[in-house]
Amino acid sequence: MKNIRSKNTTPELLVRMFLHNNGYRYRLHDKKLPGKPDLVLKKYNTVIFVNGCFWHGHINCKEAKKPKSNSEFWENKIKRNQQRDKKNTNSLIQLGWNVLTIWECQLNKDKIESTLSDIVNKLVE
Ligand SMILES: [Zn+2]
Repeated sequence: MKNIRSKNTTPELLVRMFLHNNGYRYRLHDKKLPGKPDLVLKKYNTVIFVNGCFWHGHINCKEAKKPKSNSEFWENKIKRNQQRDKKNTNSLIQLGWNVLTIWECQLNKDKIESTLSDIVNKLVE
């Protein structure tokens, strides 16, 4: 499968570049935290996940459409991903982190600006 989520997906890079250019500093894929968040902004007590709509099962998203063949397989797989995401988010919240989830489709041309400024609004020291 070509679209397997790698460590440096383009949507994630967009978020990283934006934050970096605006002076935010972060760690990447911190293995010590549940779910290895894509970005960890310790100063702001915030972790950010940049999720692919398909793999993470973005609800009511047209980019998360399941393939027609093997649909049961995909459905189960994506359901497991959703459950894992939820569990990780809950654990992080319990550890005192603010958890931001950015979906791939929120980084489309027409939405990216508001999505990125939204992140900045949520980063409060
Ligand atoms: Zn989506």
